[in-house]
Amino acid sequence: MRTKFGLRTEVLLRTVYSAIENDLLVVGPSFVAHSLNVSKSTAQKMLVELSEMGYGVYVPKKGLVLNDAGRREAVKAVRNHRLIECMLDEVGVREVCNEAEKIEMVAGEELMRALEEKYGDRKRCPCGKRIPEVTP
Ligand SMILES: [Zn+2]
Repeated sequence: MRTKFGLRTEVLLRTVYSAIENDLLVVGPSFVAHSLNVSKSTAQKMLVELSEMGYGVYVPKKGLVLNDAGRREAVKAVRNHRLIECMLDEVGVREVCNEAEKIEMVAGEELMRALEEKYGDRKRCPCGKRIPEVTP
């Protein structure tokens, strides 16, 4: 899915996840603007869009306060990305992150299930980053 700004939701959610990893309780437009190299007003609109999708509450002048659904989606987006990287690494792809970014947007449930089965026990992706677990 793409946001109104043409950015893929997966990319935005992974940015939101990195805010969580940095222990930010509120995901502010400055953080998103800096990470995605967009203007602060665009970043703000993106965060409002996530709130409209049911992922949290947008507090004006502060940012997005994620709810459980939002946190879960963000973790899932990162987990999917890193599981795809595991697969790409195995077939000898070097630019795993770039390639994973293309695949994650079209990956269907069956592929993700297969990747869960094959790489689900891994703790880290090929670049050494932690593969987060989705809490039910
Ligand atoms: Zn990685």
